[in-house]
Amino acid sequence: RQANLPYTVGMRILTGWILVSALFVCCAQQSPRKGAKAKKDEPPAIGYDDTPFLPNQKWRVHDIQRPHPRVITPGAAVGQPPSDAVVLFDGKDLSGWRATPKDKDHPFQTLEPRWKVEKGYMEVVPDTGSIYSKEKFGNCQLHIEWAAPAGARSSSQLRGNSGVILMGRYEIQVLDSWQNATYADGQAGSIYGQFPPLVNASRKPGEWQSYDIVFEAPRFEGEKLAKPAYATVFHNGVLLHHRQEIIGRMEHKIVGTYAPHDPAEPLLLQNHGDPVRYRNIWVRRLRSYDEP
Ligand code: MG
Repeated sequence: RQANLPYTVGMRILTGWILVSALFVCCAQQSPRKGAKAKKDEPPAIGYDDTPFLPNQKWRVHDIQRPHPRVITPGAAVGQPPSDAVVLFDGKDLSGWRATPKDKDHPFQTLEPRWKVEKGYMEVVPDTGSIYSKEKFGNCQLHIEWAAPAGARSSSQLRGNSGVILMGRYEIQVLDSWQNATYADGQAGSIYGQFPPLVNASRKPGEWQSYDIVFEAPRFEGEKLAKPAYATVFHNGVLLHHRQEIIGRMEHKIVGTYAPHDPAEPLLLQNHGDPVRYRNIWVRRLRSYDEP
């Protein structure tokens, strides 16, 4: 035991020295670039020009040259439009909308919408066509609130049916899916005829519900599809689809396909004959990173 003592003490000193060195190296790496500690009078660094480049980006880590994102004012409460949103319906009128005589009529005809507007919401009036926004959108974030009609109704697809149809083609289904059996890829929040929602987060008919949708428009090169559409959907704050690839346009009883269209198209709300209500509809056009 005696013979081992100097060796043990030596090991302890060595270990201690390694730990102190490691700590020093760690601290040094987190300090500002030049002059390890910022002097009392100098403001802290707001970026760097000698850090490594990020993979597949033109920017360095913490790049001082990287453009700063636009400043926007968020809504006063969750669900309220931020300052850069296009408000399509604020409860007052349908001035941002036009009507179609039939759902599949393209190009859209310009008719005055005849849906009912009262008490801060709009309501589908049967046999007056669907409505579509005057403004056109490609990649976007959409917030929309809806309520299926309360009271005894029919069943399956004939109970509170409407639809949020992006670019007039790609439908996120609106349906009263509270204790209402129908095919899974046609219930509320489905990418109609393609994917059921991950869960059924439906509220009772008559209660207000929300969809928050992030939509990536498809891209075409001539007649060819270069990139399909994708949708991320939240229903009452619950995730239903996570950047799900869309197979093609909405169809009934057949597989939808893509046909070339403009990079921006109107948002369409479906008239399926049920008095579904909508309110608080706004859209944000989405840009990429570093596009202030
Ligand atoms: Mg529908």
